Amino acid sequence: MSNSKEICIVGGGLAGLSLAILTAKNGWKVTVLEKGDYPRPKVCGEYISMESYDFLESLGVNLSKLQTPIISNFTLTTEHRISASTKLKTGGFGISRMFLDHELYKIALDNGVSIKLHSKVTAIKKTDFGFTIQINHGENLSYPLVVGTFGRISGLQENKKQNSFVGVKYHVEAGPSEDTIEIHQFKGGYCGVSKVENGAYNLCYLVDSNALKSVKGNIEALEEKVLSRNPSLKKRLQSKKLTEPVVTSKIYFGTQNSMQQGYVLLGDAAGFIPPLTGNGMSLAFRSAKKLFLSLQEFQKHGEYNKLLQENHQYIQHYLKFRIKKGRFLQSLLFIQNPIFNKMLCYALVYIPGLLQILSKQAVGKKI
Ligand SMILES: Cc1cc2nc3c(=O)[nH]c(=O)nc-3n(C[C@H](O)[C@H](O)[C@H](O)COP(=O)(O)OP(=O)(O)OC[C@H]3O[C@@H](n4cnc5c(N)ncnc54)[C@H](O)[C@@H]3O)c2cc1C
Repeated sequence: MSNSKEICIVGGGLAGLSLAILTAKNGWKVTVLEKGDYPRPKVCGEYISMESYDFLESLGVNLSKLQTPIISNFTLTTEHRISASTKLKTGGFGISRMFLDHELYKIALDNGVSIKLHSKVTAIKKTDFGFTIQINHGENLSYPLVVGTFGRISGLQENKKQNSFVGVKYHVEAGPSEDTIEIHQFKGGYCGVSKVENGAYNLCYLVDSNALKSVKGNIEALEEKVLSRNPSLKKRLQSKKLTEPVVTSKIYFGTQNSMQQGYVLLGDAAGFIPPLTGNGMSLAFRSAKKLFLSLQEFQKHGEYNKLLQENHQYIQHYLKFRIKKGRFLQSLLFIQNPIFNKMLCYALVYIPGLLQILSKQAVGKKI
């Protein structure tokens, strides 16, 4: 396989754009194929762990000038009117995806990346010389190297016995103090509330898709009948809505097999971690940085199988482990048995340091 410095990145989200910027800054000819446009809303809790702060600044996102809210406290509330709070050891910051994705898009363009918008990739095929890519409007393109950063996909390896979830997000006018992220537990899900850079509060929840089905997909009814049973969350839901709700398709958690696909996968395309307990955005940046380092080696020796193997190892070891921890933390938030639920909440309130130990499990080392 050719080791020319040319790469095509399928999907212009966080993993795709950050890899595009890193490679373009290093002299690569980079094309990004993106099915949508910018700026655009995205269902996301918009809380990024501190492990990504310096990485984003190094890409050119001027976070310190933006004065994004720095979040260092965590409060958990339940339907039983119990709440527990802790200081976050690593903490994070709040930034809207509308702003962040658009900012990375502009930085990529400034660094010479060619971004083809409204280009939905429908097939990627490996050839003797590289890859051919089919786009929805009938065009066929050829590239020596292709990376899949197209976000969440169905058909993940571990989803066979899982319940599916949906995510809902919008911005509201009021919330906790700007250094705090709240997680409000309710039957069948949990909701995060924290401030973002434009002064609004992100309100984002994950709910068992059956709960939404039981109210015939009506978000207002779901919030009134299910979420509002948690009095602290009820108060947040009463805050003035600043944006319309955006809803995801069904969500499953697990990893993908890049060896089977025959091309490198990054970010959510490689594996999807439970949101709010897992830091998917930081994992997207981490995977891009890791691949960038592997690409430096690939460029010298042209060993494609080694590149693919390294990506496979990352997914099967590091990513799988993080997803496992994220799912464990999420399962605690989802305990439905009222007795166990109350016991857990009391344990979190009365056992010093327990909440901090659990919250530490969601974070990785600095990227
Ligand atoms: C409800 C919810 C809440 C979350 N909250 C948080 C949080 O608070 N903190 C956190 O760290 N993470 C959170 N996440 C996870 C985070 O949003 C993702 O991990 C992150 O967006 C992954 O980035 P990515 O680049 O892999 O994928 P994406 O950002 O989804 O980008 C994929 C890109 O590919 C494009 N695309 C898709 N298919 C094609 C195609 N066929 N052809 C061309 N382009 C295509 C899409 O348009 C998109 O631009 C949350 C996720 C959900 C669902």
